[in-house]
Amino acid sequence: MPSSAEPTILILIGPGGAGKGTLARHLVEADPRVWLSRSWTTRPRRPGEAEDAYEFVDRERFLVRVAQDGFLEWAEFLGNLYGTPVPEPPDGHDILLEIDLQGAVQVLDRVPGAVVALIVPPSEAHQIERLRRRGDTEAHVAARVERGRAEIEAGRTVADHVVVNEDLESSAAELLSILGGLRESRAAD
Ligand code: 5GP
Repeated sequence: MPSSAEPTILILIGPGGAGKGTLARHLVEADPRVWLSRSWTTRPRRPGEAEDAYEFVDRERFLVRVAQDGFLEWAEFLGNLYGTPVPEPPDGHDILLEIDLQGAVQVLDRVPGAVVALIVPPSEAHQIERLRRRGDTEAHVAARVERGRAEIEAGRTVADHVVVNEDLESSAAELLSILGGLRESRAAD
């Protein structure tokens, strides 16, 4: 298959509360050629969280899919399993993944051309506010902030781009321009 037919993979990583999920949904709405993968997780659905935010499954079902080699990557994050099903985007679409750092490292191993954008909150105060707003318990907020510090530090070593998510519109515009550049360079191959 010529390389120009291969979809681009853009991976969003970053700490919980950085706004990755909102950004990802915004990108899909803004660009019809972006296909967002829906992850599987064993984490219970949060109150008020969309039913289709993930494929919510129990550990047993998750591990059956692991055994079937049905994930592009999967990882354990704060006690729950998360995985990206082997992607099957429609023709002409690029793949957007919103996953953690361990997952991004696995994808880069399998698909070295994948591009990683690290999304960081403008401050820890912003991050904590976002985490509280979505209903995380205080213990979870503290664990995610702590874990987030490590994600940002290690994320910088694998990221091709770092986006400080102060304003949704401008962060989305930055990511769309990154995607546009990737498509241009792919078309020129
Ligand atoms: P949350 O529980 O806040 O929805 O997600 C926790 C972390 O897991 C976030 O960093 C999120 O990006 C990551 N995550 C979501 N889906 C996947 C996935 O399919 N694989 C991996 N490795 N991480 C994921």
